[in-house]
Amino acid sequence: MFSRILGIFSQDIGIDLGTANTLVYVKGKGVILSEPSVVAINQKTKQVLSIGEEAKKMVGRTPSYIVAIRPLEDGVISDFEVTEQMLKYFIQKTSQKRLSLSPRPRVVVGVPYGVTEVERRAVEEAAMNAGAREVYLIEEPLAAAIGARIPIHEASGSMIVDIGGGTTEVAVISLGGVVASRSLRIAGDEMNEDIVNFALDKFNLSLGLKTAEEIKIAIGSAYELSERMEYPMRGRDQVTGLPKEIIIDDEVVRKAISKSVKAIVDAVKSTIEEAPPELVADIIERGICLAGGGALLRGLDRIISSQTQTRVYIADDPLTCVVRGTGVVIEDLDNLREVLLASALSS
Ligand code: ADP
Ligand code: MG
Repeated sequence: MFSRILGIFSQDIGIDLGTANTLVYVKGKGVILSEPSVVAINQKTKQVLSIGEEAKKMVGRTPSYIVAIRPLEDGVISDFEVTEQMLKYFIQKTSQKRLSLSPRPRVVVGVPYGVTEVERRAVEEAAMNAGAREVYLIEEPLAAAIGARIPIHEASGSMIVDIGGGTTEVAVISLGGVVASRSLRIAGDEMNEDIVNFALDKFNLSLGLKTAEEIKIAIGSAYELSERMEYPMRGRDQVTGLPKEIIIDDEVVRKAISKSVKAIVDAVKSTIEEAPPELVADIIERGICLAGGGALLRGLDRIISSQTQTRVYIADDPLTCVVRGTGVVIEDLDNLREVLLASALSS
C-alpha cells in the first residue's frame, strides 16, 4: 500500500542497458534519453571525465592516459563501478529536479537472456546504488518482443532477432517465455572491426573504429543492392605513413562484413532447427522480427529471409524496441509482473 502511494509520486523508469547504447523510458513520458554506453576515465586519477555522447566523441581521440570504456562490452557488466556511475548519471539526467521528499524511482532493466545469477545481482545492485527504490529485471528478447508489439502471451510462437553492438540474441517466444534461443558475440561492433581489418589487408589503410562504423551505416549491406553506393574511406596509409582517402563501394563493405553476417544468419537457422515444430509453423505464419541497431543494416532482412525461406520484417524503430518494452512493463507493473525475472538480491 505504502509503496503504491510512493509510486504515484516517483518517476518510475525503464532502462535498456545496451552494449552500444543506453536508453531510458520515463513513465507517462516515453523514451527521453538515448546515449552511447561509454565512459571516459582519466587513468592517472581514476576520475570519470565524461559519460554518454560526450565520452563517445573521445573514442580513439584521447591521450593515452584517458580511456573510453564500454562497461557492458559483451552484454553483461564487465566493469561494475563504471556501470554504476554511468547508470547514476543517466538516471539523474532523466529525473526532474526532485523535491527532497519525492521517493526514488522504481526501475525495470533489460538484461540479456540467460545471464547468470551473479550477473543479475550485479545489474540490480548497480541500479539500487544508482538511486532506484526497487529494481525489476526483464529478459531482453521479451522486452524487445513487447516493444515490437508481438503478442507474447499467446500460445503461438514468435521469433525475435535482436542485433545490438556486442551481441546478437535470437529467441523463440511462446506463452510469455523463451522457448529456444541463441546468443552470439557477433553483432554491429564486430562488423566495424571487420571493416578495419579488411581495409588493412586489402588497401594497407589503417582506419579508426568510428570511421568504420560510419562507413557501415552509410553504405553497408548484407545483400546485393539495386543501386551501387560509394563512400570515401579515410585513414593512414600503412606504407607511406601519410593520410589517404580512397573511394569504396557497397560491394567492398559487403565482402568485409560477410563472415559476421553469415554467423548471424546461421544462428537464426540453428535456433529454428531447435524449436518445436508447432512453433516453427507459427513463425512461418508470423514472420521473423528483427530488432536492435543491426536490424538497420541494408538487406539483412532479405538475406535472412532467403536463407530461411521465411518472411522477415524489421520492427518499427528497432533501436528503441527493448526500452519501449520496459516502458510497457513499467506503465502496468501490477499486471505484467509475470514477465519479470525473480530478484537475485535476496537469494
Ligand atoms: P545495444 O543494444 O548492444 O546497445 P543497439 O541496438 O543500440 O545495441 O545497436 C547498436 C549497433 O547498431 C551498433 O553496432 C551500430 O553500429 C549499429 N547500427 C546503428 N544504426 C545502423 C544502421 N543504420 N546500419 C547498420 N548498423 C547500424
Ligand atoms: Mg540491445
